[in-house]
Amino acid sequence: MTLAIANTISQVRDHVRRWRQAGLSIGFVPTMGYLHQGHLSLIDKALEHTDKVVVSIFVNPTQFGENEDLDRYPRDTEGDIEKVRQAGASLVFLPSVEMMYPPGAQTYVEVQEVTRPLCGVTRTHHFRGVTTIVSKLFNIVQPDVAVFGKKDYQQFVTIQRMVEDLNFPIQIVGSPTIREKDGLAMSSRNVNLSSEERAAARALNLSLRKARELFAAGEIRPERLLAEATAVIEAYPQIDCEYLELRDSHQLQLVREKAQPSDRIFIAAKIGNTRLIDNAPLGEPCTLDAIVAQS
Ligand code: AMP
Repeated sequence: MTLAIANTISQVRDHVRRWRQAGLSIGFVPTMGYLHQGHLSLIDKALEHTDKVVVSIFVNPTQFGENEDLDRYPRDTEGDIEKVRQAGASLVFLPSVEMMYPPGAQTYVEVQEVTRPLCGVTRTHHFRGVTTIVSKLFNIVQPDVAVFGKKDYQQFVTIQRMVEDLNFPIQIVGSPTIREKDGLAMSSRNVNLSSEERAAARALNLSLRKARELFAAGEIRPERLLAEATAVIEAYPQIDCEYLELRDSHQLQLVREKAQPSDRIFIAAKIGNTRLIDNAPLGEPCTLDAIVAQS
């Protein structure tokens, strides 16, 4: 399988045009690189739906706040290209910041309600950066299908909303969270954890599991589910929990009365300087094996 590398927008358009002329369908996986098994599973998923898969690798500055980790974000372009090749993608797009945001750029795409809670509370311009760059990449690649990880569930819902509201002719597919053996969701940022921090990081998923176990045992009161999940995370003093919330899976509204199987529990926490997120639906199996396999 040959992998083409594009550094410019016109190179991407040339490849896509040729594939379209040959009657082939196009899948797209946007990433910020430092690829792991989670990203590669999105490429697999895209290949299930389409003939040719385009992967973009771009650490997008507009989705980072001033005091966030843009400068510390890990990068490994050569390693990434090899992984993308082995995963069976046909084209990797590696744009520069200047190409995506030339001098004078002043247009943003902004989705409203679903970006306000959860990560939107502390990362106030984050989703605006995400929807702007994803719109631009959608216009450059013009895929039939784009795949997003449910690990970033609020982002997945936001992109679905944007595609519907702005009439992008693109099918958005969500893909399950890929995890380490102890349940920690794979993330490019995990490499920034010290070994002690890495050991504590499993608490994020443990707390979600606690809520799911209780729900499986018949508990449907949101305040009880959250109290027990909070107790798990509070046992780890090095973890600074930013939010732990139960929300519905479509509009991301708080669940106040009775929890449903499709409701999701969301967590964000800082361990040292590293901010991690995770989420899971209440009503799926909650043994560790099942969670590592799929959630
Ligand atoms: P990022 O490079 O972090 O911007 O992520 C690019 C895409 O990979 C997004 O759609 C993420 O949701 C997805 N992704 C990141 N980590 C995982 C994971 N552990 N499992 C599944 N998808 C993931």
